[in-house]
Amino acid sequence: MKNLLKNFLIFLIIFLVIAGVFSLTSSDNKKPQEISISQLVQEIQEDKVKEIVVTDNSLNILLVNQEKQLTLKEDNQPLTELLANYGVGSDKLSKLSIKVKTANNRNVFLTVILPILLPFLLLVGFFYYLSNQMKGSGMQAFKFGESKARQVNPKDKRTKVTFQNVAGVHEAKEALQDVVKFLKSPKNFINMGAKIPKGVLLIGMPGTGKTLLARAVAGEANVPFFHISGSEFVEMFVGVGASRVRDLFRRAQKNLPCIIFIDELDAVGRVRGSGVGGSHDEREQTLNQILVELDGFEPNSGLVVMAATNRPDILDPALLRPGRFDRKVILDIPDIKDREFILKIHSAGKPLASNVNLHQIAERTPGFSGADLENLLNEAAILTVKNNKKKVGHEEILESIDKVLLGPERKSHILSDKEKNIVAFHEAGHAIVSWNLPSCDPVHKVSIISRGQAAGYTLRMPEEEKYLRSKPEFLDNIAVYLGGYISEKLTFKEVTTGASNDLRQVTHLSRKLVTEFGMSDILGPRTFGEKEELIFLGREISERRDYSEKIAQTIDEEVSKIINLCYNRAQEILEKNKEKLEEVAKILLKKETIEKEEFAKIMKN
Ligand code: ADP
Ligand code: MG
Ligand code: ZN
Repeated sequence: MKNLLKNFLIFLIIFLVIAGVFSLTSSDNKKPQEISISQLVQEIQEDKVKEIVVTDNSLNILLVNQEKQLTLKEDNQPLTELLANYGVGSDKLSKLSIKVKTANNRNVFLTVILPILLPFLLLVGFFYYLSNQMKGSGMQAFKFGESKARQVNPKDKRTKVTFQNVAGVHEAKEALQDVVKFLKSPKNFINMGAKIPKGVLLIGMPGTGKTLLARAVAGEANVPFFHISGSEFVEMFVGVGASRVRDLFRRAQKNLPCIIFIDELDAVGRVRGSGVGGSHDEREQTLNQILVELDGFEPNSGLVVMAATNRPDILDPALLRPGRFDRKVILDIPDIKDREFILKIHSAGKPLASNVNLHQIAERTPGFSGADLENLLNEAAILTVKNNKKKVGHEEILESIDKVLLGPERKSHILSDKEKNIVAFHEAGHAIVSWNLPSCDPVHKVSIISRGQAAGYTLRMPEEEKYLRSKPEFLDNIAVYLGGYISEKLTFKEVTTGASNDLRQVTHLSRKLVTEFGMSDILGPRTFGEKEELIFLGREISERRDYSEKIAQTIDEEVSKIINLCYNRAQEILEKNKEKLEEVAKILLKKETIEKEEFAKIMKN
């Protein structure tokens, strides 16, 4: 309604302006003086008239002194005859320049037709405009069923991505080479009688480069790329998703060979029949339509459907059966070599100082995904600008690692001296226990600067990528978590709330040892509790007990036993290293942060 009013006002203004312009042009600035015929005759006799322009029955007179006058005569009477009747001699007439003009058509149009037509035209224009607007919003309702897929064309150099832009993930690239080769020259495959997979499913944690890799395949093969996210299919209304799927495949069929990429497939591809909440009808229809379309197009027609998910476990099995998404490509979290490579790719556009050692950065970022690393370099660049430096230095990147891991430093979070003392001993406790236990993750950094939620932190990281973990490692890590609590207790005879997070970790880990990893000698090799996840949230919500009351008690006892064991070990270590503990705490209070190398030096001394 507001819009309508605005448009109306605009039209009104335009109308007024036009009307104003007309009134200006139609009335000459200087109106000629009106005179009578006899006056004109007298002027002619006195030789004052230079020119007379006759238009129909009006006479425009131009005097010798450039003055303009106007008079009217009767219709159909020639001017010369009229003047002769008034007794103007032919000698006078010959001196005059008399011009005869027919009535100006344009003038008639401007003065007669337009004033009538204009309001009418404006009205028509106004309604046309209005109806157009209505149609715009109305048409959107009709366009509901169209897919919102974005099309990336191979000619668009700006958005082009190739395998060179994707670091690491060698196996995945290898597996996708076939698809690229097929899209480039399908004939070779068809002649061999080989069928290229219709559907390729990219599986990997968030940020491992699934979307990037899919685009790279299109870039390598030089084919159009239709990109849509699973969630974009689903609307409020049942049937919309299915119609969007149909539309997407129809669009793709017109652009063969090409790739359809459905990102976040799990948004529509969850196991059917498990819907909780209202929207599952729609989702199921959408999924069914995807299945139908996947079956519907000919293999080797030049269409390859790619999809990405980080939850392959919740996908409907029908999606994964042969002939559909049967080729699975797994993208791992990058290892140290790949991390260095990814850092290299993303530092390309940033001026790096000569002291930057990307290998060392890669060493310090285990568990970082490609997206994390990109974010890390971006944070470092922002920090560099903040520090008024010309080039991104090693320090900036190191500092950004902490920021990405733990959240920004909280400078405003000022601890009192007493609190600082407690935090220093707490963190020193973690660090010293960790130093003395062989199989836990080594200390990278100890700090009493607040970050995110933590008042201080001890950053520990595994030396290398670990895919399997053993019981001694878990026990050592639990002991390290307890180190802060014990250190507070030994030093101040009291504990603070600062240890609560550590204690939660301790409980969580030791419970997992018993119930999930079968690492309790008494309870043996089985799991306890069936995790149920509510499909629509995709999170584990409830745990169903599949064991007796008696076993529940044993589990609790086992958990306590593990925690006690670790507690005693950590306590022993801290009692034995009391001087070291005090030394580290003192240095922390002075310098706030101790790096890995410095910490090692203190401990070896
Ligand atoms: P996903 O789809 O797996 O969640 P994306 O493909 O969207 O992850 O990756 C996010 C960003 O992280 C990419 O735009 C890219 O800049 C960066 N990235 C992730 N993995 C890699 C990699 N292997 N090589 C280079 N950049 C990567
Ligand atoms: Mg993605
Ligand atoms: Zn702690």
